[in-house]
Amino acid sequence: MKVAKFGGSSVASAEQIRKVGRIVADDPDRRIVVVSAPGKRFPGDTKVTDMLIGMAQARLSGESGEPQLTALIERYASIARDLELPEATLEPISADLRQRMKSDHSNTDQYLDNLKAAGEDNCARLFAQALRSVFNLDAHYVSPRDAGLLMSSEFGNAQVLPESYLNLESLASRPGVTVFPGFFGYTREGQVATFPRGGSDITGSILAAAVKADLYENFTDVDSVYAADPRIVEKPNPIDILTYHEMRELSYAGFGVFHDEAIIPAVQANIPICVKNTNRPEAPGTMIVPHREHKAGTVTGVASNEGFCSIFVEKFLMNRQVGFGRRLLQILEEENLSFQHMPTGIDNISVIFREQGFTAEMETRIIARIRETLDPDQLSVEHGLALVMIVGEGMNHSVGIAGRATTALARAGVNIEMINQGSSELSMMFGVKAQDRAKAVRALYEELGR
Ligand code: ASP
Repeated sequence: MKVAKFGGSSVASAEQIRKVGRIVADDPDRRIVVVSAPGKRFPGDTKVTDMLIGMAQARLSGESGEPQLTALIERYASIARDLELPEATLEPISADLRQRMKSDHSNTDQYLDNLKAAGEDNCARLFAQALRSVFNLDAHYVSPRDAGLLMSSEFGNAQVLPESYLNLESLASRPGVTVFPGFFGYTREGQVATFPRGGSDITGSILAAAVKADLYENFTDVDSVYAADPRIVEKPNPIDILTYHEMRELSYAGFGVFHDEAIIPAVQANIPICVKNTNRPEAPGTMIVPHREHKAGTVTGVASNEGFCSIFVEKFLMNRQVGFGRRLLQILEEENLSFQHMPTGIDNISVIFREQGFTAEMETRIIARIRETLDPDQLSVEHGLALVMIVGEGMNHSVGIAGRATTALARAGVNIEMINQGSSELSMMFGVKAQDRAKAVRALYEELGR
């Protein structure tokens, strides 16, 4: 059995939905289908999820939300019309959108999640109808509520609760094709809660793990995962096989084709993943597996991401102060700030975290507390950092990769603000100024990625 997940661009229009329908109809093993909300149909178009966020914001600022609602209903209506679906298809969709828009918005985060989830929920309803009407398949929409996909109450950034797996197992024995909306579930109290943005990949992986699928197929709009971002590097090499660890590191560091948190459920259940193209389903795609053969000394991919900052703390004889690191991290913990990396020297530590959510007030507070608690010799905050990462199982125990990487960056005139290598030797991270990001990726790819 296969679980197949289709991203936003795969369900953006009737034409795309026809392709998806054919893919599902072509393989009777594709018994569980997870869909995103309709995404962009052309460059400059707006994703349904962003339209929903726009509608929520309009309501929250006291507007009626009616123009946004009309536009949303029309997005679904145009797909239903072009697919010549029965008239009755649209009624529950527009009623659902209206009812969510009008729902209680005293809790902003809950309201936002309730609205965001409408994108996939209604897409799944519409898609199940399309499979029945256009492809004559026995297809049914299943609600995450009925199926028992339970989530933590971290609205907008929720995590699956462990008991969900047992609840979802019974999806395997449902007849026909099950169409399941991605991106959201319900808290134990029955509130809608969403994964982080792009989180339909996570739903697909959870379902694949729960039903012990033979394969989790993740359909998107590219032929494969590439060794570098094609917007930065011209014609990067396609990757035909990757390990879970490599994919997790690459997607964390900026590879948008697969959500970094989506790896985990599949890894735990040992299910291979295949990233494929809806527009070219015959292309083999990229396989993501537990182990693969690799050539020593090779780099699999170069990824990069912006929006980081760092706090640099220096104190003479820091290495002899027991508890220095703990006290620093405790301050961040009490501010609810999760750190991403922490390169250290003998007398200094840098803590790197995401800029999003790090407000000016927080910064002032944290700096004051570090001064007071740790009495540092030097303390500074640096904004606008990009992280560039080289990733590959082949880097493990290989001599000379760091040397080649730093030489390549120096040749390209990129100043390295920070270097970090995890002890797994699976990746090496370079902190650079955001404006040097593309230059750094190109230099590293040219030197190590080809
Ligand atoms: N529709 C959601 C988003 O745009 C989730 C997804 O597409 O995976 O973030």
